[in-house]
Amino acid sequence: MLELKHIRKDYVTASETVRALKGVSLSFRDKEFVSILGPSGCGKTTLLNLIGGLDGYTSGDLVINGRSTKSYKDRDWDVYRNHRVGFIFQSYNLIPHQTVLGNVELALTIAGIGKKERVARAKRALDRVGLAGQYYKRPNQLSGGQCQRVAIARALVNDPEILLADEPTGALDTVTSVQIMELIKEISGERLVIMVTHNPELAAKYSTRIISLRDGLVVQDTNPVTAAEIYSARHLSVRERRARKRTDRAMRKEKAKMSLFTAFKLSARNLVSKKGRTAMVGFAGSIGIIGIALVLAFSAGIKGYVASMQDDMLSGNPIEIAETAYDLNMLTGMMDAADKEEIIKQPNRVYISSLVEYLAKMSNTADTLMVENTLTEEYIEYVKNMPQEYYSAMLLGYGFDLATSVFTDFKTSKDAVAQSISVHRLTSVYTSILKETEFKDYASYVTALAPSFAQAPSNTDYILNQYNIEAGDIAKEKNEIMLVLNSRDELSDLLLARLGYYTEDEFLEIVNKATSEDGSYDEALYRDSFSYDELLGKTFEWYSNDQLFSVGVTSFGGQDFYNAKYASSADELAEGTKGLELTVVGILTPKDNISYGCLSSGVYYTEALTEHVLEKNASAAIYDFLLDDEKSAALAQGYYSLTYTYDYTYEGETKTSMGAISALSTIDMLGGMMGGSGSVIDPAEVRDNLIRLLGGDSVANSVLIYPLSFDEKDLVTEYLDDWNDEDGVISVGGIEYGADERGEVTYTDTLELIISIINTMIDVISYALIAFTSVSLVVSTVMIGIITYVSVVERIKEIGVIRSLGGRKKDVSHLFNAETFIIGLLAGLIGVGATYLISIVLNLILEPLIGYPNIAALPVGQAALLVALSVALTLISGLIPASSAAKKDPVVALRTE
Ligand code: ADP
Ligand code: MG
Repeated sequence: MLELKHIRKDYVTASETVRALKGVSLSFRDKEFVSILGPSGCGKTTLLNLIGGLDGYTSGDLVINGRSTKSYKDRDWDVYRNHRVGFIFQSYNLIPHQTVLGNVELALTIAGIGKKERVARAKRALDRVGLAGQYYKRPNQLSGGQCQRVAIARALVNDPEILLADEPTGALDTVTSVQIMELIKEISGERLVIMVTHNPELAAKYSTRIISLRDGLVVQDTNPVTAAEIYSARHLSVRERRARKRTDRAMRKEKAKMSLFTAFKLSARNLVSKKGRTAMVGFAGSIGIIGIALVLAFSAGIKGYVASMQDDMLSGNPIEIAETAYDLNMLTGMMDAADKEEIIKQPNRVYISSLVEYLAKMSNTADTLMVENTLTEEYIEYVKNMPQEYYSAMLLGYGFDLATSVFTDFKTSKDAVAQSISVHRLTSVYTSILKETEFKDYASYVTALAPSFAQAPSNTDYILNQYNIEAGDIAKEKNEIMLVLNSRDELSDLLLARLGYYTEDEFLEIVNKATSEDGSYDEALYRDSFSYDELLGKTFEWYSNDQLFSVGVTSFGGQDFYNAKYASSADELAEGTKGLELTVVGILTPKDNISYGCLSSGVYYTEALTEHVLEKNASAAIYDFLLDDEKSAALAQGYYSLTYTYDYTYEGETKTSMGAISALSTIDMLGGMMGGSGSVIDPAEVRDNLIRLLGGDSVANSVLIYPLSFDEKDLVTEYLDDWNDEDGVISVGGIEYGADERGEVTYTDTLELIISIINTMIDVISYALIAFTSVSLVVSTVMIGIITYVSVVERIKEIGVIRSLGGRKKDVSHLFNAETFIIGLLAGLIGVGATYLISIVLNLILEPLIGYPNIAALPVGQAALLVALSVALTLISGLIPASSAAKKDPVVALRTE
């Protein structure tokens, strides 16, 4: 039995308090058909909503089966609505984007009933109201009467004890109204039906009891519940009481609950029904994601590109150990020197900027920037002992120049007799000739721009990884040399001239062509290329220092005068002198995929020749001469240059000039001549350098290490760092060296610097761009929040229906959160998917330009993170609208049109 006791309901609004019910006391039998009549605004709907648990009463009590509802919680009301009450509304309140079946299922869905049972029960309910076979129509495909039948089926599907109908025929024509009334009448046989109506005739015809309301008070009741009925309802038999207790308990346990999965399905169906809009929202939301994803894709792609070049770049940027090194870490210090501290300025004063201070700072940092290394014999030994698996090649430099000791054949013209002269002399000859021509200003660049012989790494496999043999073979023996071309198959004219490949005539024609105003030239003399055959097989002679240098003494006036003579041409050598014949055996070119090889274009000899040179030149009379102050005193005026005279012919005239083998750099020489106080030449040092230049020092003064790969580079640097470690003992050749016995040696790792600068740049640019594109992400997030809010407003009826069917507040918020989740996921997937598509196109366009196939490569991990970010952001943006939806008063929601 349902009992209302002195129920009052006040609606408090800002302007007034409406007293909708002013004290209603009514009892209802478990099975009867009650009609409530009364003029508009008298409180009929209010009464119905209170009975249905949609709205709360202000005072009084609603007693259900003897139990007061004063202590009911939200959850109890939800269960009550879901299991005990069915609602029918004048305006049907069907959910437009669900099928007929879906609408009826909804009550069961909220109760958390499984799919199979749900469908079976919903179909049974639909069959019962005469809608068999109309299951999959949409509400807008049905007539009004059919819609109301669906609503009745939905109200009945949970088999409720109470059916509440608010003007169910109010929107229907007379014939249909009668059909619906018949249906309700039929239902009322099994349960309590309370129907609000305007129509007294229908009420009189179908109901068993008519209650009239006026101004919030009951004014008439045709069949009130008697005191005896109340008594018997309150005093149940033991059996009846037990049965009731059982159902009560079962019901309390059976919470109305909708699974999250169901919420997702309902939302997904809603989104599918609005395909166009969903797609637009998803796309709009994805724009920010696309922006960030593209930045990340490029950032990762460029880093990948740099990484792919690392191993390649390694061969062009070996780790270098030399007597002077630049401490690249100090570069930043150099920049700091330019900083000036701020001072607080007084008005009317002229301030002084101290250039002296600036220069002092600059020179300090410049000093630390340039590091002088002492490469001791044990240090070189230590480097040589480095595990071989760390590097592909190690090149030890001894600082000698083969130009003084290698002789080539030189002709003034094609038909002239060949003279065998040293490359050093030939270079001097050309320098002198150039000084006679238009080209004179550049004459001194001949040696600087075209270094002569250099040693190739001894690891031929390493070289052949990077270079193709175009002709002949790679140089392996001490008497073999090879030519290495650049990627355009070139060697420079100056190098070929120094090696003696040109006659003087031909060389002069090159100068003529370059300096003549019209660029005309003599085709018989000028050529733009050589055939391999012309280059291959050329021979050179190498001589030792004892063969090249003779030391003599002449006595004059009782005094001994010592002199050293350099034989710069074969005729000046002692009779029968035999050198080592060197032959050009091969021509190499860099492979197509190599941008940085270990050899630049030039002429290369083998490590075997280096060893031969060092061995043959281990001692020589010229060194003793140089090291003896008295003997070499005369040389001091020439800054310890070993001078020689040579002839050259220009325009038919033969002239004599002087060449010099000098260990002085141009700067040393200038300093010496100016006699500046800061540039005293240390004769001992210059002499040592000169001996080194001639190949007389067998301790290397530079090392190039080509690590095996970028990973091994770290092992190499770690090994080198160990030497500089402040503690620990290092053993070289069985002798232990403590930390204080080891001088610090700074090596130069150019590649590391290049890569770290590039990566820092990529990071900085990426962060800036991400910050930039994040703005669009914020915009799209706010936009999705607004759209969700609009969706809440649009679906306010649905919210009311769900709540009237017993849906919890939580279910409503789940519904909207599920919707934003799906939109976020969609936006994220569209964004990431679009990025991958754009990447494919960009990579296709960019590959031919940069020769790297994956310059835009979004890592999968980051893509997943972005999708998660998109979901998180849209979820957050939807939280407020979703909770506002959950808080909607179901009564207000249902009243909204
Ligand atoms: P009926 O269904 O009999 O036409 P109602 O029960 O809908 O009447 O309304 C009863 C009275 O309460 C009316 O005066 C109506 O304006 C008022 N009322 C109903 N709901 C609200 C509300 N949410 N806020 C303020 N007043 C309301
Ligand atoms: Mg009403």
